[in-house]
Amino acid sequence: MTTSDGKQAIGFIGLGIMGALMAGHILEAGHQLHLYNRTRAKADDLVAHGATWHDNPGRVAEHCDIVFTMLGYPPDVEAVFLGPDGLVARARPGTVLVDMTTSSPDLARRIAEAAAARDLGALDAPVSGGDVGARAGRLAIMAGGEQTTFEKVRPFFELMGETIAHLGPAGAGQHAKLANQIAIASTMMAVSESIAYAEAAGLDPRQVLDVIGTGAASSFLLVNLGPKMVARDYSAGFFVHHFVKDMEIALDEAARMGLDLPGLHLARKLYRRLTEAGHAEDGTQGIFRLFAETGHTQNRA
Ligand code: NAP
Repeated sequence: MTTSDGKQAIGFIGLGIMGALMAGHILEAGHQLHLYNRTRAKADDLVAHGATWHDNPGRVAEHCDIVFTMLGYPPDVEAVFLGPDGLVARARPGTVLVDMTTSSPDLARRIAEAAAARDLGALDAPVSGGDVGARAGRLAIMAGGEQTTFEKVRPFFELMGETIAHLGPAGAGQHAKLANQIAIASTMMAVSESIAYAEAAGLDPRQVLDVIGTGAASSFLLVNLGPKMVARDYSAGFFVHHFVKDMEIALDEAARMGLDLPGLHLARKLYRRLTEAGHAEDGTQGIFRLFAETGHTQNRA
């Protein structure tokens, strides 16, 4: 379905914080965009700009050369790809299916096998960079799957991301994303501790962040989420409940590999505490509530 000017029919399923922004870049580049999302209203803006709505994932697949998904949890991915009206059952041979959700490596491998059995391509290609990176088209994209399939999709990854890597066979993209989340887990605790300490010492935490944000302690999280912690702005760019999901998958995989990751265990415990206190829909910087509002000793392992 490639047109004479090189434009293709592209599907996008999952139009939440990330997906709507990522799909927008594909539409802006002039491709035909076919959409489905659990809540239809989230497609309204893209439909108003020329995209086409379909009533289930299978209907999207029937119209497309490549279908991207950006869903919430592994069971959502399983339903959309492997369900009776799903992508694998309904796509035409030769179609490429690309899951950009943070999901499990094992599920990515199962999808790749099911896709290959129907002569479809499949990639797992989770992302890092948050809503800021998604809006700017500057995500880091970590792909797993066949090299030839990756090359077919690369021009579309370039619309959404800046750093694009093919890391190995099916599941490799998810493993790389989990390595990313493991680094984030301990960093979120470190940034919270640093700001709590600066405040307790009577310093201006904004001034401290401005200084240490240019030194050896600097990081994307310190620079971007540190000021939100100081302002007690816990609005979501990346939901706490999704981060807990990522840590659970990473801990399962680490256990399978015989790895002990104490920082990740502690972060999961603190984020679960946040969820139990009713803050699952906070952004991940909401971990600072445990340091800012309730004292310090309860956070120990
Ligand atoms: P989100 O806002 O919750 O978006 C998920 C979207 O998927 C929602 O619109 C949801 O529908 C839709 N969906 C879920 N199950 C579906 C199904 N069975 N059929 C159709 N649509 C379905 O979450 P997000 O922040 O965009 O994150 C999406 C994924 O990317 C998550 O796995 C997250 O961990 C990961 N991620 C997020 C960030 C970030 O900074 N936000 C960064 C990197 C990776 P509804 O509209 O009905 O809820």
